[in-house]
Amino acid sequence: MISLKTEEEIEILRENNILVSKTLALVGGHIRPGVTTEELDRIAEEFIRDNGAVPGFLGYNGFPKTLCVGVNEEVVHGIPGSYVLREGDILSVDCGTIMKGFYGDSAYTFCVGEVSPDKLRLLDVTREALCKGAAQAKAGNRVGDISAAVQRHAETNGYSVVRDLTGHGVGRKMHEEPEVPNFGVKGRGPVLKAGMVICIEPMINMGKKAVVTEADGWTVRTRDRMPSAHFEWTVAITPNGGPDVLTDFSIIDRALNAV
Ligand code: MG
Ligand code: MG
Repeated sequence: MISLKTEEEIEILRENNILVSKTLALVGGHIRPGVTTEELDRIAEEFIRDNGAVPGFLGYNGFPKTLCVGVNEEVVHGIPGSYVLREGDILSVDCGTIMKGFYGDSAYTFCVGEVSPDKLRLLDVTREALCKGAAQAKAGNRVGDISAAVQRHAETNGYSVVRDLTGHGVGRKMHEEPEVPNFGVKGRGPVLKAGMVICIEPMINMGKKAVVTEADGWTVRTRDRMPSAHFEWTVAITPNGGPDVLTDFSIIDRALNAV
């Protein structure tokens, strides 16, 4: 069952995702060599609670923290801890909130100090892949149109797409139907309808597509230990016209430029 949201519910989802964007902007402003991922997590949790929401990931299936982080070859679901960020790292930060009964969910991959040109290109291509996927999030299209657009952009740039994890519907639950894979065939999959709200979240690897889960039971990393990037938007399907992106990366970009 794919649930359709009312306009009022979509506005609550937007409120959540604006708060997530602001949280990621605040976190991004604190990212520098010498900072631990645990410090970033504390900043995020305090900000989310100060804004009348609850961290969406904390306690979700037993996850122990507010943020999911991933350094370099870590793809997603890493647990913030004592790791000290180093010049040249890339750090993916995934953040969720719950407010007024609905979830916010988005992710951004940040640079720690000066990052190598090959990592910068991976970030650019992953973010472009997200934009190209989201551009297909229109009523009457199919989920496969999004998936194919993401995959095509990643692979034509020489990268690979993680298969084991996907985007998803979102609403009163963090993970709802449909699944939104980052690989697939145009014209296949569920039809997109007005009122659907989905998370599009390409996880793109510089090397091969295979991933493994670390012994902590959470952290997913690339098997070949090559870097991986992750960007995520929550997007509403509108009755007519383009996708309504409920996440606002401009808040994050402005904060990073101001640092
Ligand atoms: Mg997420
Ligand atoms: Mg998600």
